[in-house]
Amino acid sequence: YGLTYDYVNTADLEATAAKIRPETKMIFIETPSNPMMLVSDIRAIAELAHKNGALLTVDNTFLSPHFQKPLTLGADIVVHSATKYLCGHNDIIAGVIAIANADSDYGKDLELYIKSEGPNLTPIDSWLLLRSIKTLGIRVERQAQSAMKVAEWLRTQPTVTDVYYVGLPDHPGHALHESQATGFGSMISFKTESPEHAVRVLGRLKLIAFAESLGGVESLLTYPIAQTHAEMPKELLARTGLDDRLLRLSVGIEDAGDLIADLDQALNG
Ligand SMILES: *Cc1c(COP(=O)(O)O)cnc(C)c1O
Repeated sequence: YGLTYDYVNTADLEATAAKIRPETKMIFIETPSNPMMLVSDIRAIAELAHKNGALLTVDNTFLSPHFQKPLTLGADIVVHSATKYLCGHNDIIAGVIAIANADSDYGKDLELYIKSEGPNLTPIDSWLLLRSIKTLGIRVERQAQSAMKVAEWLRTQPTVTDVYYVGLPDHPGHALHESQATGFGSMISFKTESPEHAVRVLGRLKLIAFAESLGGVESLLTYPIAQTHAEMPKELLARTGLDDRLLRLSVGIEDAGDLIADLDQALNG
């Protein structure tokens, strides 16, 4: 489509402003970011985009609409991988585009595209998704409660060197996150002492599944460097701190004590 783009750490507002060019049409952010959990200021970036005649799009997959509503904070477009929390059971692939203004040019373009190109869900997937959304609130509240317990436990572990969870009060984005969301979600990243140890943990899991994806009722542990982020250029990986010691945990609805016991035997057994 002839699109060009720059990558920038949008948790750094000045760096983001510096990347804007006269032809910039859109700023696309994700907060907290996958998998390093950087927090970007939705209100401030919306203002920055609009001042420069651009749109702000937010990927809100990690929090779901239950915890964060970017359209109310000034975003123009919100996208969700509905495969994740909205579906919640790891059994369909779906997506959502929510827009602030249906009468805008981009709103009309999207409507035409959806009507004529056919990127629609099948009836069974639509039914499963609608049924899942009925329990979204209680699922994600429970998942977030357990995630806080797991994150607090992880940081006491001698073989864990770093824990990235926006719910921890000393996370650098904690206060900003609290100002724009009503919950911390249930995505936690952490680093173990060595790449060998990280791989060993993945091999020892019993309750938690070693798998890609996130947001479902079952907890999943992912190895970003080999799975979700395997295609990411090396220099970007280095800049973000995503390395071969990093694991990403999606906390499900299981008993938090059972999850901690599984992590304990995998990390320390
Ligand atoms: C999984 C994911 C996507 C891609 O969604 P699919 O439903 O797998 O196509 C986009 N953004 C985020 C944050 C995701 O986690």
